[in-house]
Order: sequence, then C-alpha cells, then structure tokens
Amino acid sequence: MTDPSTAGLSPATLVVSAGRPQRAQGAPVNPPVVLSSTYVSQGVPGPDELLYARMSTETWHPFEEALAALEGTPLPALVHGSGMAAIASALSLVPPGGRLVLPRHCYQVTIGYARDLAQRSGVTVDLVDVDDTEAVLAAVRGAAVRGAADRGAADLLWVESPTNPMLEVADLPALVAGAHEAGALVGVDNTFATPLVQRPLEHGADVVVHSVTKYLAGHSDVVLGAALTRDPELHARLLTYRTTHGSVAGPFEVWLALRGLRTLALRVERAQATALELARRLAAHPAVASVRHPGLPQDPGHERATRLMDGYGAIIGLRPVGGAAAADALVAALRLWVPATSLGGVESSLERRRRFATESVTVPDDLLRMSVGIEDVEDLWRDLDQALGTLV
Ligand SMILES: *Cc1c(COP(=O)(O)O)cnc(C)c1O
Repeated sequence: MTDPSTAGLSPATLVVSAGRPQRAQGAPVNPPVVLSSTYVSQGVPGPDELLYARMSTETWHPFEEALAALEGTPLPALVHGSGMAAIASALSLVPPGGRLVLPRHCYQVTIGYARDLAQRSGVTVDLVDVDDTEAVLAAVRGAAVRGAADRGAADLLWVESPTNPMLEVADLPALVAGAHEAGALVGVDNTFATPLVQRPLEHGADVVVHSVTKYLAGHSDVVLGAALTRDPELHARLLTYRTTHGSVAGPFEVWLALRGLRTLALRVERAQATALELARRLAAHPAVASVRHPGLPQDPGHERATRLMDGYGAIIGLRPVGGAAAADALVAALRLWVPATSLGGVESSLERRRRFATESVTVPDDLLRMSVGIEDVEDLWRDLDQALGTLV
C-alpha cells in the first residue's frame, strides 16, 4: 500500500518525496538497487514475501509507490519492461472475440497490437476520432456502426489524450461516463500529459498506462513502462499478466526512472512554458503552414485542455510550408534540436512521423512532432528560426 505520509501532498512534492526509504538515523535517503533473482525462502510463502524477481523486487517498490501516489491510487503501479509491455497487459483485459475501441490517432504500435489481437484472438477493433465524443460512444455502444446490426458494447475503450501525434484532446469525463454506462472498461495512455497535468483515474478511468521511457524517466536513457488501477480485481489480473508474460523491468532501469521522476515537476513546468512560447512564435512564422498545441487559444483542443488538464503538455505539431520535402529539409537544417523518435527527454527532439510506413495515413505527410525539452527558449527559437529561414 502507498505510504500514508504522502496523503494530501501536491504532485510537485510527491515526485520528490514519495518512495523514500523509512526515515531513521543513518538510513540512506535513496533506495538501494538490489541485484538478486531470488530470495531466501522455505515452506509456504507469506502473501507479501519476496520470492523471485520476476514476481516482485524491492527495487521496483519505491517507484511503483511514487507513481501510484501521483496517479491517485492506493494500489502500487505495475512497472513493466516498456510502455508497450504495459499497454499489452491492459489490452489483455479484452477477452478473445471481444470488442476494443481505440483512437485512430494513437501510438502506432498500440494500433498494430490491436490489429494483431483482431487476427489472433478474433477481437473486433473500431478506430475512432477521440475529438468526436458522440462518435466514440456510439462505437462503444456498438449500435448500428456503418449500418451494421447491433454488435453489443465494447469490452474496452482505449483513450490517448492528447493523442500521439495529432494532439487531439478527448473529453475524458464524458467518455468515461458514457463507456461505463455501456458496460465498457476505460484505459488511458497518459504518456503525453504525465500525472502532473492529467490524472485519468480521478476522472473514473479503470486503467492508466505510461511509457515511463518518456517524461517520467525523462533523460532518454531507459525503456520502461507502467500500468495502474484503483480496482483490486483488475490489479490482480494485470499482475498475473506481468508475472506470466515476464514483461518485467531490470532493477537499474527502475532506479534510474525514480531518479528521473524527482525532477519531473521542474522539467514539465519548464518544457510546457517553452512549448507554449515556441508554438506562439511558430504560428506567426511565414514558413509555417499550421501549428497544433493545446495551449494556443485558436487550437481545437484548447477549450477541453483548459477545462480538464493542469497544463498543455510540451509537444507541438508543426506543418511547414512546402510539404513533406520541406519538413525533411527543416529537420536536416536544425543543429540543436535532435532528429530522433521518442519524446519527453530533457533534450528537444523532433521527427516527421509519416517517415514510418506504419504511421496512420490520416496523419499528414508533412507533420513534424516536436518534443520540447528544457534548453533555453531563445536558443531553441534561434535554431528553429534559422532552419525555417532555409525554406523560404
Ligand atoms: C513511446 C510511447 C509508447 C510506447 O512506449 P515504449 O516505452 O516505447 O514501449 C506508448 N504510448 C505513447 C503515447 C508513447 O509515446
């Protein structure tokens, strides 16, 4: 269970103070890394006894407790070897032959895995536009989609908000209420927002997952994931999945993630402020065709983000004048911004998502997904401005 001394603390404090060792004279302030695959044990093991490191290790616990405190659940997070492993555990809640509804714009590997479930397990997959609450809920209810007969309600509604890479913002409370009314579970990939900006369990979502690789760890040096729930039965199912699939994390990676988490509030605060400033300047630049960032008043997601989130995140969607060739030229002309996939690191990075053949075809060919880091805003702008200057 989560340390009761963290109750009532703000997220900016929790990232620093949750998951610390017991305070005692001479005790370390940071948890140790324990390298042991097995634990001394004989006879019938007790319920909380450490037994074997695929099941649980004390090096995972501080991070799992800190993340649980941040997302607002008394049940510890379940750390996984990657974000995709955590997502696969959550999608395992859809039974063979069941129905899954997910955003047409979400992490492309999640969509790929859903298609795999459709082929292997007879799961019916509906891709929806999370912007359109009514369309999402119609798909969840399963009634008369594309003129077909009533197919019964979905087992799971999957939500990303803001979406990767389109930055659409979902009306999470409305989706959760409607999905629950129809009898569907709701899972949310909260990677883009982080628990500092959005806590889906507080909106009633059943499961939350993170690619810890991104903002939570924050330094582009580990691959890690986590799943969380407030429901003891779902927690038991997700734990069984992790133990039987062995999708577990190494102790060093989890320790690094906890170390990264300590500065999450500072990093996110800085990156968000810089992202908003850069989005404003980009929107006024003659070499820019369009900009998406939920913090811009003219952005389609602005009203919802303002109402539902404690910030706007630090991702920008940019379409330069001149199409995909101009987007590639812009990436090549940058010196400070790193051309790379992934996001949420201290370093600013960007990529044209459609360079991957697997990216959704409704994502514009020339869309650059920009992950704003924590460098000086003027240095980032100067680099963008000189690179945009090569296009016009
Ligand atoms: C990166 C990412 C994932 C996958 O996480 P990994 O840690 O790379 O497995 C899932 N969802 C979103 C939104 C992501 O950005």
